[in-house]
Amino acid sequence: MTTDQADHPYQSGLDAGIVRYQACDDCGAWQPLQRHACRACGGTRLGWRDAAGTATIHSVTEVARAPTDAFRALAPYTLVLATLDEGPRVMAHAEPGVAIGERVRAGFLRHGEHTLLRFLRE
Ligand SMILES: [Zn+2]
Repeated sequence: MTTDQADHPYQSGLDAGIVRYQACDDCGAWQPLQRHACRACGGTRLGWRDAAGTATIHSVTEVARAPTDAFRALAPYTLVLATLDEGPRVMAHAEPGVAIGERVRAGFLRHGEHTLLRFLRE
């Protein structure tokens, strides 16, 4: 990970135990991915908000073989797309065995010098 990514509001939030998402400072609409203009009003004053950390599982992938050396120690592991209660969808690790539609809350897994978002069953 580069210094730029470590300084990113999403990653620095995880390091502090907070899930963050981007929202429009003009109309308040949450943004599906990091964007440069609001999906709702076209405004460019986008900021980062703290999410409650509760979410619903949207999809689940079991990873048996890690794609990189950095993740080898974690394998096998579970990756999910989860929909935050605030609306945005995030990719994250999760407790093994979570199912689509299940309610989860954010957990934080220290991995090397990074912090990974890892959802746990509520
Ligand atoms: Zn807006």
